[in-house]
Amino acid sequence: MRIHINDPLDKQATERLKSVPGVELTSEHLEKEDLLKIMPEIEVLIVRSATKVTADIIEAGTKLKIIGRAGTGLDNIDVKAAEAKGIKVINTPGANSISVAELTIGLMIACSRHIARGTIDLKNGKWTKKELEGHELFGRTVGIIGFGNIGREVAKRLLAFDMKILAYDPFVKETDMNVKMVDLDTLYKESDYITIHVPLTPETKNLINKETISKMKDGVIIINAARGGIIDEEALYEALVSGKVYAAGLDVFEVEPPTDELRQKLLALPNVVATPHIGASTFEAQERVGMLLVERLIKEIA
Ligand code: NAD
Repeated sequence: MRIHINDPLDKQATERLKSVPGVELTSEHLEKEDLLKIMPEIEVLIVRSATKVTADIIEAGTKLKIIGRAGTGLDNIDVKAAEAKGIKVINTPGANSISVAELTIGLMIACSRHIARGTIDLKNGKWTKKELEGHELFGRTVGIIGFGNIGREVAKRLLAFDMKILAYDPFVKETDMNVKMVDLDTLYKESDYITIHVPLTPETKNLINKETISKMKDGVIIINAARGGIIDEEALYEALVSGKVYAAGLDVFEVEPPTDELRQKLLALPNVVATPHIGASTFEAQERVGMLLVERLIKEIA
C-alpha cells in the first residue's frame, strides 16, 4: 500500500506508519503539479492544512482510498468530491484543541497588555511605558463564537481568569460549564473580547464584517485562531484604525502567507498581534494529532 505524506507529520507517527507491514511510505511536500503526477500511484494521502486537496487532485487519485487530515478543519479538502468517489476522509478532532486554546489566550493577553508592541519598542531602544497602559481580563466579558472542542477549552481556562463567559453555537443549546449560551446579537452587544472558534463554511465566511462589527461594544478585542475568511479583513482594518476595535489577535488570514497589501495595512497596525498560523504548532499537539491519525489509518487499512 503506497502512502504519501505531503505536509510534515510527527516523526514518531511517521515511524509507526512505516512499521506497518506492506506499507510503502513517501514523505515530501510536493506542489500541486508534482502531486498530480504521483496521485495515480497512491492509496492514502496525508496532509495538514497547507496542501489544498482539490477536486482535480482527487480525480487524479485513481487508486486513492483515504485522505488523512492531521488536524481538525477540512476546508482545505474537497470532501464532497472525495465522498462522490467513495474516498474516506479521516481527521483528528480534539487532538490539537489545547494548543489552539492556549494560543488564543496568549493572543488575548498580548492584545490587552501590548506585549508585542512593547517588545518591538524595547528592541528599537524606545521606552514606551506611558503609552502601553492596557486592560485586565479579570471581570470582563468574553464572547466565544463556536462552542466545540477548542471553544470549550478556551472557556475552561478563561473561567480561571474570573471572566464572564458568553457563547454562541447554533448546535449547542446548553452546557454544564459556567457559560451562558446566547444569541449572536447579545454576544456582540455584551462582549469586551470576541474569540472565534468555528469552521470556515459558507455560513461563517465573512461572519465578522462591517455590519456585525457595528453591533459590537466600542473598544472590543477580536481574536481569530480559527480560519482566515471568517473575518472581512478590510472591515477589521477600518475598525482598528477608527478605534471601534481596540486590538486584534490573528493567527489566520484569508490568504496564507498574507499578501504584501495585508502586511502593509492590517499587519502594520500597532494594535494587531499576529502569528503565522501556529495554533496547533506545538510538539505536544503534533505528536497527539500524528499518533491519532496513524492509529485511525491503521484500523482502516488493516
Ligand atoms: P469543533 O468542530 O469541535 O467545533 C466547532 C464548533 O463550531 C461546533 O460546535 C459547531 O457546532 C460550531 N459551529 C458551526 N457553525 C457555526 C456557526 N455558523 N456559528 C457558530 N458556531 C458554529 O472544531 P474545533 O476543534 O473546536 O475547531 C474549530 C476551528 O478551529 C476548526 O474548524 C479550524 O478551522 C480551526 N482550527 C485552527 C487551528 C490553528 O492552527 N489556528 C488549529 C485547529 C483548528
